Amino acid sequence: MTSPVWHPYAHLATQPTAPKVVGGAGPRFTLEGGEQLLDATCSWWCMIHGYAHPRLVTAIKEQADTLCHVMLGGLIHDPAERLARELVRVTPPGLNHVFFSDSGSVGMEVAMKMAVQYHRLMGKPDKARMLSLMKAYHGDTAGCMAVCDPEEGMHSLFSGYLPRHHFAPAPTATFDAEYDAVASDLAALRAILEQHHDEIAALLMEPLLQAAGGLNMTSPHYLRGARELCDEFDVLLVFDEVATGFGRTGRLFAADHAQVTPDIMVLSKGLTGGYLGHAATLATDRVHDAFIGDTPQHAFMHGPTFMGNPLACRVALESLAVFEEEDYLEKITDLSRVLREELLVDQGLLAHPQVRDVRVLGATAAIEVEDSVSLRGVAEHARAHGVWLRPFGRWLYTMPAYITPEADMRLIASTMKKWFLR
Ligand SMILES: *Cc1c(COP(=O)(O)O)cnc(C)c1O
Repeated sequence: MTSPVWHPYAHLATQPTAPKVVGGAGPRFTLEGGEQLLDATCSWWCMIHGYAHPRLVTAIKEQADTLCHVMLGGLIHDPAERLARELVRVTPPGLNHVFFSDSGSVGMEVAMKMAVQYHRLMGKPDKARMLSLMKAYHGDTAGCMAVCDPEEGMHSLFSGYLPRHHFAPAPTATFDAEYDAVASDLAALRAILEQHHDEIAALLMEPLLQAAGGLNMTSPHYLRGARELCDEFDVLLVFDEVATGFGRTGRLFAADHAQVTPDIMVLSKGLTGGYLGHAATLATDRVHDAFIGDTPQHAFMHGPTFMGNPLACRVALESLAVFEEEDYLEKITDLSRVLREELLVDQGLLAHPQVRDVRVLGATAAIEVEDSVSLRGVAEHARAHGVWLRPFGRWLYTMPAYITPEADMRLIASTMKKWFLR
């Protein structure tokens, strides 16, 4: 019997039957029939505490007994108030205001609308376009699709439907690059800003790690240079930390590597530990205060039904508490060391003819191949080793839960490696 469930990113004619998940604990989920799979992707990078974490589950249950939902229009409640304060505390200094929404894409839509309205309120209504980067991925809604990589990205089919924005080349300098190596990346940004700054509201980027657009990693110098250019050209800097936020790059936020405060920052995926969908768009005083005024144009016209949902806010608070109390940054350092040992120290993988590059940053590792054809069958290979891997395009990667024990981290890495070095 075919299922009425329409799966994402799937070719309906060729998709294999989706295995049914019935539960999970720690880094593994369990399938109907009892098979357990070690999740190398932590469910699209959000289940950072793994499955069935007792503290997160209890937080949701307790909140459900008190208040499951209430609108944030004209009302406030404790979990939203407390989470906003916590996010202000842990994010880079200066991000003092929090706008909640229900997903990463919507969080980015909020960021872009905020940037455009900011400039309008500042008397620069022509600044109504974005500057994004090639290899960027910012979400699947229309506004977000329009700032994803328009060529290699997954949304090129919709180009006729989308508004036009500006794009700079993807950064090429590696994470460890010296300042000089970043100069040409920054020169490319500068060239576009010099020509088009009059119509650019914001520069958007996934700081240090462009994730779904190809796991491209770059240097903290690039973030600092981008900050300076944005100040010079009166363009807001928006960090999309939906994927990089909450430890993925080895610091709590990618911005922390560069000690840069963006004007607007978007968080989602790891925000609730993956237990409920939610997002937060943070803004500095400069952005927020522009909206203080008494004309109709001063109100920010956005308000998702489920913004600030109490269950989501409460589990996000618990997620952050566990992250800090159990020193997750230390765990991430350990995972990163294991990934380097397994995938980089032994040069065999890099020398393989099908492998173009191998990269590790924080709790993220990617093997980029020359041709996506060479990844055909890798998911089945991984499942035979008890591992859930889901490559996309030319990238075989892992973004594990941070609670993944060392032996399991080695199992994931060796499963990735064995696909090539059989
Ligand atoms: C996943 C992702 C999004 C979109 O988040 P959704 O919750 O899927 O809408 C946006 N930006 C980045 C960097 C992401 O990785």
